[in-house]
Amino acid sequence: MSSESNPCENLQEQIDDAAAYLDVATDVLERLKHPERVLETNLAVEMDDGTLEVFKAFRSQFNGDRGPYKGGIRYHPNVSLDEVKALSGWMAFKCAVADIPYGGGKGGVVIDPREYSTSELERITRAFAVELRPLIGVDRDVPAPDVNTGQREMNWIKDTYELLEDTTAPGVVTGKSLDNGGSEGRVEATGRSVSIAAREVFDYLDRDVGEATVAVQGFGNVGSVAARLIDGLGASVVAVSDSGGGIYDPDGLDVPAVVEYKRETGRLAGFDGAVEEITNEDVLTLECDLLVPAALENAVDGDLAQDVRADVIVEGANGPLTPDADDVLTERDVTVVPDILANAGGVTVSYFEWVQNRQRFAWSEERVNDELETVITNAFDAMVAVHDEVETPNLRRAADVLAIRRVAAAYENSGNWP
Ligand code: NAD
Repeated sequence: MSSESNPCENLQEQIDDAAAYLDVATDVLERLKHPERVLETNLAVEMDDGTLEVFKAFRSQFNGDRGPYKGGIRYHPNVSLDEVKALSGWMAFKCAVADIPYGGGKGGVVIDPREYSTSELERITRAFAVELRPLIGVDRDVPAPDVNTGQREMNWIKDTYELLEDTTAPGVVTGKSLDNGGSEGRVEATGRSVSIAAREVFDYLDRDVGEATVAVQGFGNVGSVAARLIDGLGASVVAVSDSGGGIYDPDGLDVPAVVEYKRETGRLAGFDGAVEEITNEDVLTLECDLLVPAALENAVDGDLAQDVRADVIVEGANGPLTPDADDVLTERDVTVVPDILANAGGVTVSYFEWVQNRQRFAWSEERVNDELETVITNAFDAMVAVHDEVETPNLRRAADVLAIRRVAAAYENSGNWP
């Protein structure tokens, strides 16, 4: 996704690019370029000083033919209707690649949450939940955390919904805390799927991930878990970075010690087990076998892609490569496992949380991880099968084709009514 262009247009271009490899009618593809329904609302919320402030908020329900709409709610000043619409489409595709029974959804509030107190954030979240109530539900639309929201916000939305509906409905949102119906394994799920995707792609390339050198950009939830689990596969994690810069050891960092240092100090800089401190850009262009960008979108553009020396990239973040970077890397024969597969672990374990909530039965962490393993390896195999079948230029296009095929089939099989 390019930061300069309209995200809805990017989504539509992505569908057009996949169209050549699809046997789907043009009018059906046209339908899949737009969400089914969008809520735009203005939340009037009392601040701690007694004044009222109005917040714009959105929810987009992209396509419900494969199951309830599903997707996160983000709190950010740059949230816009177009962004939410496009992100709901990408969620529909991600759920289809993982073959979990959800359509796509996304929501957001235009806010910088750092400027508000906890009680103000609670009132804002509950006000949004009141507006969402007619649209969401265990079998209708299931929100989850996204940028700047987490377990706390999900607990508030669940509580508001349950009070208004006079029921218990833990499956109305996912990403809740364990005591409120959350799932074991949810916090680690995205980094875990990144590590499974890394293992699978090396296997696919007839290489051993255990012999790979690895650089990880971003050391938050996704990057730190991915680094730890890839290290556990026997690979040598030679560099990691966060917003303050990177650390490097050509012989491999002691990843558990780095995780502990980051937990204690909140930073990577100053870690005394590193040979050298390097810049973020150095991490992205380091001589290594595998690069895992797990920080922000658009981390690698077309220019930087020329300097990337890893020959395999597994996307932990959403959209870390710009379309220009993708073209350059395809041209340079760098294998990229796309975000909609590699980081699908988060939504997959959200799905497991929802299944457990419906069953009123909690799974063990071992069961969650086993089921996740199955979903991600099946998705990887299905993506590669499409790549071989229709000869897409890269794995991203194969994942798009797989996703659009599945969503289009569900839509066509449902018929068009009224
Ligand atoms: P996080 O906030 O926990 O971590 C982000 C990390 O990136 C932090 O370590 C931060 O210091 C680092 N960072 C920021 N700017 C950087 C820069 N310029 N260079 C290097 N590092 C930088 O976030 P997260 O939950 O780990 O999410 C990371 C990405 O993964 C985001 O794109 C997110 O949308 C995506 N994602 C997350 C999940 C999930 O379950 N958490 C699921 C799917 C996708």
